[in-house]
Amino acid sequence: MYYKLKDDVRLRAYDRLPRLVVQGDRPIGVSAAEFQALDLCDGAIDVDFPLVPEGVREAIPGLVEKGLVEACEKGTPLKPGQALRRYPNRLVKGVQWSITGACNYRCRHCFMEAPHAKHSDLSTEELLDICDQLAAAGVGDVGITGGEPLIRKDFLQIAQRIVDDGMRLTQIYTNGALVTEELLDALAAMGARPQFCISFDGVGCHDWLRGVDGAEAAAERAFRLCSERGFPTHASMVIHAGNVDTLLETTRTLASWGVPTLKISGVEPVGEWAKGGRGESVSRDELIQAYLDFVPRYVEMGMPMASVQIEALLLVERPDAKRRGPGFDEAFAEALTGDSDGAPAGEDSAADVEGTQGPVRVIARRRCQDSATTCLCLTTRLNPYISSEGRVLPCMTMADIEGAVTDGFPSLRATSLQSILTDSTLLDATDSRGKALLAANEECASCEYALDCLGGCRAAALRADPDNYLGVDRGACELFKKGWVDRAEALAKDVNERYARSVV
Ligand code: SF4
Ligand code: SF4
Repeated sequence: MYYKLKDDVRLRAYDRLPRLVVQGDRPIGVSAAEFQALDLCDGAIDVDFPLVPEGVREAIPGLVEKGLVEACEKGTPLKPGQALRRYPNRLVKGVQWSITGACNYRCRHCFMEAPHAKHSDLSTEELLDICDQLAAAGVGDVGITGGEPLIRKDFLQIAQRIVDDGMRLTQIYTNGALVTEELLDALAAMGARPQFCISFDGVGCHDWLRGVDGAEAAAERAFRLCSERGFPTHASMVIHAGNVDTLLETTRTLASWGVPTLKISGVEPVGEWAKGGRGESVSRDELIQAYLDFVPRYVEMGMPMASVQIEALLLVERPDAKRRGPGFDEAFAEALTGDSDGAPAGEDSAADVEGTQGPVRVIARRRCQDSATTCLCLTTRLNPYISSEGRVLPCMTMADIEGAVTDGFPSLRATSLQSILTDSTLLDATDSRGKALLAANEECASCEYALDCLGGCRAAALRADPDNYLGVDRGACELFKKGWVDRAEALAKDVNERYARSVV
């Protein structure tokens, strides 16, 4: 009898994670015998062959039931990239990669201080080599950002190499000005369908923040074009005094352009903005109050967008939105903790957020149950950042922070990615667990919100103290200690109850 893996199943093995089964983009938990059985399901091995251990053979019906394998004709081949691949390094799921620090816009809040590109760029050969290194380290997803990535003349060459190396080009972060039919056709021809993540800073306000006349029209054109051509889109908006009142209208407008999801956050005091005189931030309290005022009005308006995320505080999702929930990355997180048998816990821990009542959810509270195994920041652990100079940092928002910690992160100009993902200051930082922070940080250890907050965001902590990766995030302190999280939860409960009554 012959079996093969279902087309969306891949087998991988990494340092400290000897068996990883990924179906689509979700890790699935399996036992050692099941993994051995999956490895035999290649269409070429007769599982009834006497040398196949009984326990392994017996695992196959269960794998059929789980939808991981199917019976097939002898010799039915697997698709490229499905069979077991072994990597000597630790797993990272994807990277966010700045392929240039230069830009065609002059945004008032750009941390790279574009268009002048504070940092130098790498050559085409160096970028292609990074693509190969990513593939050799078993990285699956690549998100490309800048600066403005589409100003690089070799952009399509880089995209093609990512695809040829068997990785997924998952996102392109762009201002949209250079999104053309030709670009989308070329990506489609190479089999890539990345999400276009385009900045949009409020109806009637976008040109001002971006420093270029016509930026708003360009963003609209790009969003519409991507939607027409079947490329997924996402918008991100930074809030300041000049656009905070446009939130409702902006969501309506983005929805009318076919944009399903939006993330909003306050302007970070970086780049030209931090030097003063280029804009007016709202105070943190005013900003959060504005968010809390926005949420009920947005829900009453009928939630034109599928999902709106408000910082790391709130998420408003329409019932028809594809809910992924926190369980998705949690399943990978368990895979990273080196738990008892080295397999991800899979479906149970990756449970979707069904059961979450209503469209509004507070995402600020982490409810950590075991600080010894919980990563301080899953995003940095699973999706680190590569700068335009080839430095590998936990996340993009650390790129402009200079200090003992950030200066010590490794560069692909000097070290291979496999080596960085085996033993490096990057791994030391991103693999930090809550327990380490609580041991090193007296203020967080004695805080009543310690397990709900776990010290907040590492980039924010580093911005306050560039020499201490395990420091305090004052923004998180404000959220918890000033009662904003409690107020957000009360608001969510109220809005969700009213929503439930309205749909009965
Ligand atoms: S609220 Fe502040 S002190 Fe408390 S755990 Fe969070 S960052 Fe640390
Ligand atoms: S360190 Fe902070 S900004 Fe960076 S990914 Fe984590 S939470 Fe986000």
